[in-house]
Amino acid sequence: MKELEAIDKKYVLNTYARNYTNFKKGVNATLFDQDEKDYIDFTSGIGVVSVGHGNKRVSEAICNQVNNITHISNLYVIEPQALLAQKIQQLCGYDMAMFFANSGAEANEGAIKIARKYGQIKFDNKKYKVITLEHSFHGRTITTVKATGQKSMHKDDFSPYPDGFSFDAKIDDIYSSIDNETVAVMIELVQGEGGVQPFDKESIQKLASFLKEKEILLIVDEVQTGAYRTGEFLASNLYDIEPDIITMAKGIGGGVPIGIVLTKYKDILVPGDHGSTFGGNYLSTAAALEVCNILDDLKNSGKLDETIIYFEEKLKTFYENHKDIFISSVGLGLMRGLRVKDSDTLNSIIKNANKNGVLVLKAGKNTLRFLPPLTITKKEIDEGFKRLEKAVC
Ligand SMILES: *Cc1c(COP(=O)(O)O)cnc(C)c1O
Repeated sequence: MKELEAIDKKYVLNTYARNYTNFKKGVNATLFDQDEKDYIDFTSGIGVVSVGHGNKRVSEAICNQVNNITHISNLYVIEPQALLAQKIQQLCGYDMAMFFANSGAEANEGAIKIARKYGQIKFDNKKYKVITLEHSFHGRTITTVKATGQKSMHKDDFSPYPDGFSFDAKIDDIYSSIDNETVAVMIELVQGEGGVQPFDKESIQKLASFLKEKEILLIVDEVQTGAYRTGEFLASNLYDIEPDIITMAKGIGGGVPIGIVLTKYKDILVPGDHGSTFGGNYLSTAAALEVCNILDDLKNSGKLDETIIYFEEKLKTFYENHKDIFISSVGLGLMRGLRVKDSDTLNSIIKNANKNGVLVLKAGKNTLRFLPPLTITKKEIDEGFKRLEKAVC
C-alpha cells in the first residue's frame, strides 16, 4: 500500500488530490480494497460505470471483441460503430448522425467545430461566437476550459485561450448576450460539476424555441446527463426539446473511454474536416453497444424508474434527518446532490464516508454528490445510506 503510493507519487503527475485506497475488485455498486474491506459506490467513477463494476454482459462483449479485433481504423467501416450509432439514434429518437471520439472534452470540441463550420457556411457574415453558462463545465482542453463558466479554471498559466466564447451568462442573460456573430449556445440541462443544478423545463423550452427562431444552434452537453442518468436516455428527452447538437461520454461506455457528438446537421463535416485515431474503434463501440442494450432493458423492465424512486426516498430521509448539515436537496434521476452548509463540513463528510465504507463525491464548492450505478440494488442503497448515517454522526 505504502509502496504503491510511493510509486504513484514518483512517476505519475500530481494533478489530482488522490485517495490511496487500492481497489481490487468490483461487483455492481460494491467495491473491495486490498484488505477485502467493502465500499458502497455512490459515484460510479464520476458517472461512468453506469451498469456497475464487473458487469458480466459488458465484460463478455469486450472479451469477445478484443479476442478478435480491437482496432483497425476509421479508414474502414467498423461494424459495432455503425450498430451503436443506429442504436443510439433509436434510443434518443432524434433524426441525427454521429461522430465518435474518446472523451467528453473531445466530444465538445467536435460540437464546437460543427457549430463553427455551420456559422461559416450558412450565413453571409461569419458567425463563430459560443455562449455558455456560469457554473458550467465542458472539459479540460484549452478550448473547453475557455467554454467552462468557472473563472477559477481560466488560469493565466495556460493563456492565451481561443476567442469567441462568453462563459458567464445566466439562462435569462442569454437573450441579451446574443449578437450578429453568435452561432451557438452550449448548456448542460443539469449542471453536474457546477453543483448538480437542474434548469427548469419551461425556461429551457423557451430558450430552445427562441434559438430555433434566430437560427442559433443549441448544443446540449449530455456528457454527464446522458445514458439514462436522469431517467430518460437523454436529459433532452426528459426536457422535451430537440437540440441541434448533443454530446455524450461518461456513462455510455460503462468504463471504456468514448465520446460522441450527435447532430441533425449531417452534411456539415466532410472528409478531412475532423477525425480521431482511436475514436469509435471496435473495443469502445462493442462495449458501448452492450451498455445501451443493458440500459434499454433496465428502462423497459421498469427497474430503472423503480431504483430512482427508491434512491430518492432514501436520500430524502437522510436529508430530513440532517437539516442541521444540509441546506437543500438538488438533482434529477440518479444524479443527485445535497447542499452542505459549508465546504469544510462537506470535506469531512466525504472523508468519514470513505472510512465508513461508502464512496461519495463533491460538486461545486458545497454539494455532496451522488452518481450511483444505474444498476444499484435496493440492498446496496440501504447499506450505503446506513453507512452515510454513521459518517455524519
Ligand atoms: C465530465 C464532463 C466533461 C468532460 O469529460 P472528459 O471525459 O473528462 O473530457 C464535459 N462536460 C460535462 C458536462 C462533464 O460532466
